[in-house]
Amino acid sequence: MFTCRNQPCGEQWEMSDVVIKNEGQGLLFRCPMCGARNYVERFDGEDGSVLYEQIEGRPATGPMAE
Ligand SMILES: [Zn+2]
Repeated sequence: MFTCRNQPCGEQWEMSDVVIKNEGQGLLFRCPMCGARNYVERFDGEDGSVLYEQIEGRPATGPMAE
């Protein structure tokens, strides 16, 4: 579950509700309601599945860090 970090919005979304992509500053999704950028971090689950976790602000690593 993700929560839009845009305070007046604050909508909650399932992972299936949003599109996660990299616009050059790290992985993020845009809130379907207000369009705010919400940054996420990718994790690989133990069973090989891909998980995303919402992070505060922007990722510490730059786009060249991969
Ligand atoms: Zn929003």
